[in-house]
Formats: sequence, C-alpha cells, structure tokens
Amino acid sequence: MIPKDHPRYHSLVRRENIANAALAGIVAMEGVGAHGRGEAFDYLIGEKTTKSAELAEKTAAALFLTAKKPVLSVNGNTAALAADLIKDFQQATGALVEVNLFHRTEERIEKITRLLEEKGVLVHKGEIKRLLPLSHDRALCSVDGIYSSDVILVPLEDGDRCEALVSMGKTVIAIDLNPLSRTAKTASLTIVDELTRALLTITNACKSLGEDEINRLACDFSDKKIQNKDILDNAVKDILENLSDALDRKVQA
Ligand code: ATP
Ligand code: MG
Repeated sequence: MIPKDHPRYHSLVRRENIANAALAGIVAMEGVGAHGRGEAFDYLIGEKTTKSAELAEKTAAALFLTAKKPVLSVNGNTAALAADLIKDFQQATGALVEVNLFHRTEERIEKITRLLEEKGVLVHKGEIKRLLPLSHDRALCSVDGIYSSDVILVPLEDGDRCEALVSMGKTVIAIDLNPLSRTAKTASLTIVDELTRALLTITNACKSLGEDEINRLACDFSDKKIQNKDILDNAVKDILENLSDALDRKVQA
C-alpha cells in the first residue's frame, strides 16, 4: 500500500498499476520497459503539463471534435494506466475505442476489452485484417475502426506504426513523453505529457472549449500555425530549462 502523503505518490501508483497489469497479462513485458522510459522523461519535464503540452492537448480536442471518424487506439499500458478515464474521454470526444496491440495475442485483446468494458467503455469489435503498410501482425486493425479513421489518437505508439498511419493520410496524434522518439517526430501532433494527465486535459478541453475556439485551433493546425516541430522544440527547451535549473541549484549549494 503506497502512503498517500508519499511525495511521489502518483508516480508510484502508476508504476504499481503497470506491475499488476503485467502480472495479469494485460501489459507485455516490453511495456514495462517502455513505462520506465516514460517515467524518466516525466522527471526531466518536471512531472507537470507544460504550456506547450496544454496547447497540443487543446488542439487534439479540437481535432477530435471536428473529425469525421475519431478513433482512440488502446494498448496494454494505456488500459493499465487509464481505464478509469477512457469512458469519460469517449463521451466527451465521441471517439470509437479500438484495442490494438503491438505484441498482439487474442488473449491480451480479450483481457483488455474486458477491463475497458467493466469500466463502461464501448469497445469497437470490427472485422480484423492486415491493413496497415507493415509486415506481420503489426499490420492488423479493424476495417471500420482504425483503418477508416481520419483522426486517430495513439498513446505510447511505436514509431513504425505511427509512420504507417501517417502515410495513410490520417491525422495521427501521439502521446509520448520522449520528444526525441521516432513516434514523436513522425506523428502529425505529439502531446509530450504523461498519459493520464493528457487524457484528462483533452477530456476537460472538449467539455469547456467554445465552438469558436475549437474552429480556431483546428484551423491553426491545418494552416500550420500550430506545428509538431515547434511543440517538440518547446518540450526539449522545457527539459533543458529544468536541467539548467538543477545545475544552478548545485552551483549555489
Ligand atoms: P520510437 O518511437 O523511437 O520507435 P520506441 O518504440 O522505443 O520509440 P516505445 O518503447 O514503444 O518507444 O515506448 C513508447 C514511448 O512511450 C516511450 O518513448 C516512452 O517515453 C513513452 N511513455 C511511456 N509511458 C508513458 C506515459 N505514461 N505517458 C506518456 N508517455 C509514455
Ligand atoms: Mg519503436
């Protein structure tokens, strides 16, 4: 039991959720490693939603609300960390929720689907085919879900699959704490923030943004006034500032 007054309470709860989900066969062992990398980058970014991440989250909300077919792709880590948040996210964005795994087994798909359904999420179960321009099972997705989406949110996605989705003409929104990853660089829009903070902020933005602001954000994105490259540059600057503050503290000590 993690004491609530522990200074790293939220981070430790997330780690415990990942560990329990790995033991339950929901998170793949590779996902445990990916989570650790995310934790390290969260430290570097200051474990908070930066201004630039908040702009990306509001833009993501606007892109979802103006999409024809918005889809949230859920993997094991996303289910383990955010199953409680996805029902609200689905209601606020109108997104179709599809379980799609990099390390795909039918057993894990079923376990994740069950977990989400227990939390009140409507899980899309369409016909599955090899539809993405990738080799092996990584190409699998549903015909009337991910394949036919125009805007897709892929939290913690692999770089190759992100690239494949972008090459199909989709607007791909990634959530990735590592601004240097291939996913972050290839996505149409990257939210450099921790997954649960990001999903909550997008859900709240969908509820609070007015129509004018939604349209302005969507236009700024299509007119390239909001660009992924700038968002990633800002994330790297935020990390550099944090590191430089840490150095200053050391010099003063
Ligand atoms: P690339 O995109 O360069 O191919 P990768 O395939 O090595 O990167 P993964 O190992 O698949 O990346 O990990 C996915 C990414 O998700 C990592 O970059 C990690 O920083 C990030 N990540 C892990 N946990 C979280 C989290 N809770 N919130 C946000 N990002 C996270
Ligand atoms: Mg990769």
